[in-house]
Amino acid sequence: MPLFTYRCDACGATFEALVRSGKAEPAACQVCQAASIKRQLSTFAMTHTDLDSLRSLDPMYKRMVEDQMARTPEAEPMRHLNKLTPFSAAQDPGPPIDF
Ligand SMILES: [Zn+2]
Repeated sequence: MPLFTYRCDACGATFEALVRSGKAEPAACQVCQAASIKRQLSTFAMTHTDLDSLRSLDPMYKRMVEDQMARTPEAEPMRHLNKLTPFSAAQDPGPPIDF
């Protein structure tokens, strides 16, 4: 959720507002309620991406995550086969369907 800085043309006040993606930006000055506000350029730029965060992770952390993921029920490769009904316990489906 980006934080934008706005400047009011009427009173010169600057204020910040959190703007959710898809939501409307503030329409009026928070100080004098004038509608002539302009979004200012961000005073800093985010150059750190999620990929940078991943690269900076300790390899030990990656191993810890993989160890934990391997212990979840979803990691069991036979989990779907184990839910199947064996032939010996299956109900008789009846006569074959004649098309
Ligand atoms: Zn204002």
